[in-house]
Amino acid sequence: MAVPISKQQMACDEATAKRLIADNWNLVQESVAEVAKQCGRDTSEIRVVGVTKYVDAEITGWLVDAGCHDLGENRPQLLESKFEALARPEIRWHQIGNLQRNKVRRLLPANPMIHAITSQRLLDALHQECTLQSRSIEGLIEVNISEEEAKTGLPVNQLESILRHWQDLPQPKTGGLQIRGLMAMAGWGTDQDAARRQFAKLAEIRDRIQNQLAIELPELSMGMSGDYPAAIAEGATLIRIGTRFFQGVLPTG
Ligand SMILES: *Cc1c(COP(=O)(O)O)cnc(C)c1O
Repeated sequence: MAVPISKQQMACDEATAKRLIADNWNLVQESVAEVAKQCGRDTSEIRVVGVTKYVDAEITGWLVDAGCHDLGENRPQLLESKFEALARPEIRWHQIGNLQRNKVRRLLPANPMIHAITSQRLLDALHQECTLQSRSIEGLIEVNISEEEAKTGLPVNQLESILRHWQDLPQPKTGGLQIRGLMAMAGWGTDQDAARRQFAKLAEIRDRIQNQLAIELPELSMGMSGDYPAAIAEGATLIRIGTRFFQGVLPTG
C-alpha cells in the first residue's frame, strides 16, 4: 500500500493545494446535493466521508479546514496517528478498511465508526473491547455484493447468522458495539450500471434482513469517487470519497 504523501510530494504548491482541496470539497457538496435532489432525497441524509489515506496529517487538516468533518482511513495505525496529530474535536473518524482484532484496543479511543466488520470473531472482539472501555461504537457489516472472490466482505448468506449473533450478545449498560447498517464496495472496474445494480442489491438485502430480524439498519455505506451518484440513487447514507478531493494535489503517474 502506498505511503501517504507529505507536502513536499504534492503536484502543486501549498497555497494552490489548499485552494484546490476547498474547491473540490465545494464541488462534491454541490454534486451530492444535485444528485440527491434528482432522486428526491434530502441531502442531510447523506454524509460525505473524506477518505484521507493518500495524504499525511497536515494535508488531511486542510480538508477539515474546507469543511469535511467525517474522515475515513483504511489503516488503523494511520487513523490513530492522525487522531493524535490533529486532535480536533469536530472530526468524526471512520475505519473503512480491513481491521485485525489485535488493532481494536488501540483504535477505539478515536471513537471511530467501523465500516468493515467481516467476521463474527471481529464483531465479538469489538463488542468486548467497547464494553471494557465503556464506549458505544457504531459498526457496519461489510457485505460482498460483487461476487468476485478477491473482494472482501462477508458472503451474503452469512449475514443473517452474524446479525442474530449480535442481537443475542449481552448489551452492557454503557458501551458496546452498535450495528447500524451495511457497507459494500462495487467490484473493481465495474461500470456505472453494474455498480448501480450492486448498490441496489445491498439496499434490497438490507430491507429484507430488517424485516426478517426486526432489526434497524439505517446506514448504507457505499459509493466512492467513481460511483457515488449511483450509490446515492440507491439509498447510500455514507459515501466514501478520496481521490476526488485531492485532484490536482496528488502526484500523477
Ligand atoms: C480508498 C477507499 C475509498 C475511496 O476511494 P476513492 O476512489 O479514492 O474515492 C473508499 N472506500 C474504501 C474502503 C477505500 O479503501
